[in-house]
Amino acid sequence: MNLATHYKCDDCHATFSLDKPALLCEACGGLLEIGYDLGPADPRRITDRAAARRDLGLWRWSDLLPLPRGAEPLYLGEGDTPLMPTRRLGRHVGLPNLLIKNDTLMPTGSFKDRGFSVAVGFARALDVKQAFTYSSGNAGASFAAYAARAGIEATVLVEDVANESKIAAISLSGARVLRLRYRSSLEIFAGVSALSEAGFYCFVNFINPVRHEGMKTYAYEICEALGWRAPDVMVHPVGTGGGLYGAWKGFRELRELGLIDRLPKMVGVQPAASAPLVRAFAEGKPVAGRHGDANKTVAQSIAGDAPIQGGSRVLRAVYESGGRVVAVDDNDLFEAMRLLGEEGVLAEPSAAASTAALLRARAQGWVSESDTVVSVVTGGALKQPSALAQAARPPAGTVQADPAELLRIFREGLV
Ligand SMILES: *Cc1c(COP(=O)(O)O)cnc(C)c1O
Ligand SMILES: [Zn+2]
Repeated sequence: MNLATHYKCDDCHATFSLDKPALLCEACGGLLEIGYDLGPADPRRITDRAAARRDLGLWRWSDLLPLPRGAEPLYLGEGDTPLMPTRRLGRHVGLPNLLIKNDTLMPTGSFKDRGFSVAVGFARALDVKQAFTYSSGNAGASFAAYAARAGIEATVLVEDVANESKIAAISLSGARVLRLRYRSSLEIFAGVSALSEAGFYCFVNFINPVRHEGMKTYAYEICEALGWRAPDVMVHPVGTGGGLYGAWKGFRELRELGLIDRLPKMVGVQPAASAPLVRAFAEGKPVAGRHGDANKTVAQSIAGDAPIQGGSRVLRAVYESGGRVVAVDDNDLFEAMRLLGEEGVLAEPSAAASTAALLRARAQGWVSESDTVVSVVTGGALKQPSALAQAARPPAGTVQADPAELLRIFREGLV
């Protein structure tokens, strides 16, 4: 059973068949969305089937994902990451019902795998042979890994904020890496759009209508874990907004199916140094312009001076849900990395943004003590080693591997 039925254009509402790997609307160039026929669906059947297929990770929700009938899921172990209560962090920020969704445990170390598993799996089923994306690192590493497994020839255009470890990860999976020179994210979008319109299959969020379908599985996993209830607030770091918007689509589908009766507030987080969506939200605007400098923050994965398509989809999700977009500075990111570390979760700075935002959330008044808050930790620390070293406390000292000296230190402390 697969309930996906068509692509539909956001702007002119034209619909298209899912049997082709489409990007933008053929009629008007608008963004495409995948539509489902949820009316006749039996929600209990969907949840029972999902519960019985835990060995399939996020593909256990395949009824609600686009995959042509008979096609194999492209599965590397993604999905079903832990939703964990905290030991101290929740009390520290005044939110005893705080839960951490630990997506650092994904196959390539970031939540990007939710989207690429589904989008590359869909593309393989429709016989796509070559494709590209642009990336600050994690998207490229994820795309390269799934494309390698799918036998799709991959090119990754990397932004200048991408660090050497991430670039090496991309190329280790066999993708062609091209470093980009540009002055603003807007130049990247112009290039990516031109390639897409010329028929090169593109995996950039939103231009590709399937990636955020994978991100919907956040909503399914979280609501299932909460006994078919939505959290009050979901906090997610935002670059293009694919993660936040995908989760929002998932929550709305669950409500349409009657599995949950209300939706969470969606809260996006950006680095203060480049926060176009924060500014647009503060001004109540539906689209965001340019703001800031992506090189002035340690949060590489969410640094960009403009969001793709003006961030219109993510802003819509934030407004409709009663959420917001908030800014965090680098010191708060390092503090959040240490607090998460003490919960056993090692986050890269961008991934700690959803926790950094909580440091001031009670004081800013956008959460209350009784709220169930899900903070998504989107990517692991090891792919940005320099920031890991910056956030960590230095070693306590250097000691001789000598029994007498070690005994003295353990009994009396360092002198
Ligand atoms: C890509 C990324 C984000 C932002 O995701 P978008 O879908 O572009 O908003 C957040 N955190 C990490 C670790 C990422 O790699
Ligand atoms: Zn259209």
